[in-house]
Amino acid sequence: MSYARRTSHLVPEGAYQVLARAQELEKNGREVIHLEIGQPDFETFDNIRVAGIRAITEGRTRYTSPMGIVRLRQVIAEQAGEQRGLQINPNQVVVAPGAKPNLFFPALALIEPGDEVIYPNPGFPTYEAMIRVAGGKPIPVPLKEVSNFSFDLEVFHQLVNQRTRLVILNSPSNPTGGVMPLADLEQVAKASQQFGFWVMSDEIYARLAYDGISVPSIASLPGMMERTIIVDGFSKTYAMTGWRLGYGIMPESLARVVELLLTHSVGSTAEFVQIAGVEALSGPQEQVSEVVREYQQRRDVLVDGLNAIPGIKCQRPQGAFYVFPNISSFGVSSSEMADLLLEKAGVAVLPGSAFGKYGEGYLRLAYSNSLERINAAITQIGAAVSKIHRR
Ligand code: PMP
Repeated sequence: MSYARRTSHLVPEGAYQVLARAQELEKNGREVIHLEIGQPDFETFDNIRVAGIRAITEGRTRYTSPMGIVRLRQVIAEQAGEQRGLQINPNQVVVAPGAKPNLFFPALALIEPGDEVIYPNPGFPTYEAMIRVAGGKPIPVPLKEVSNFSFDLEVFHQLVNQRTRLVILNSPSNPTGGVMPLADLEQVAKASQQFGFWVMSDEIYARLAYDGISVPSIASLPGMMERTIIVDGFSKTYAMTGWRLGYGIMPESLARVVELLLTHSVGSTAEFVQIAGVEALSGPQEQVSEVVREYQQRRDVLVDGLNAIPGIKCQRPQGAFYVFPNISSFGVSSSEMADLLLEKAGVAVLPGSAFGKYGEGYLRLAYSNSLERINAAITQIGAAVSKIHRR
């Protein structure tokens, strides 16, 4: 059977494949520490759950406008604007089931076949998938370990040209946790003014930032709001991955096209989920700060623990809940290393190569797991890799 060519390059997300293998081992009685899946390990906060349940009880279970309910778009505009020092109109806000539709649909709305799209590599696999489905030409830019995984700007400047239609940024990054400094964003913004490309800024981890930093957004730079799509959501900040709630902020004329794509695909986002989202943004925010403090502590334990293992070199990223240690000294591929850690150490991690070719030589470990398990994972990884002969 053959299917349409636009789907022929699609592959599953690596995380689900490793999870399936880990679950198989668990079925056979093996204990596995899960550091492969990028999802918070704590429950959705109580006030949000209660708001969702109440909304169902009150019958808020109908279709809504494809863009989302007005109240939610208003609170998003206020909160997202305040976070980034921007004036945002609710008509620029498009609510969707998760952040993903606001990656995919603006990409479909912007990319003509043959257009070049620059995106981070290693990077979130959906970027390459959506570029190709839209018929665009994916142009990967490496993230540099030495500058804590910001864009390799030298390569970026070589690749950007008149055919560049869109540049995708993701700060803090999945899989590296790296944050792009303001000076780097300024360079991308300047190139955008020069060549006229759009920027898609995936800021879904922006509120999971450590060491007291606040993550800068390219949309805040002069003239950039009119050519930027901010992508954000509730999955990571409020532990709402399964609720499916996210949003995009973009110029109104683009929002109208994305609205039409939503109308004819998902229709609308569940109303009670949107009401829970209003509570998430307008309710108390202390729990977010507590979670951020907890993640920072876990990050430090994991980074220190990994760096104490001979042969592993790990940067201390300032955002998200991932670390991206360099394991190239062992002379095995990152997928061989990930297999070995699962089989021999009972620790599920992802190979860096699951995030693109420049991820080879690295692993991604998610520290959305308890300190106790993180400590156990470090001990077990240390024991397993001590048996590998290093170059
Ligand atoms: N962007 C990035 C960088 C992500 O890591 C994820 C989730 N893994 C998403 C977008 C998708 O978020 P959602 O589940 O809300 O669609």
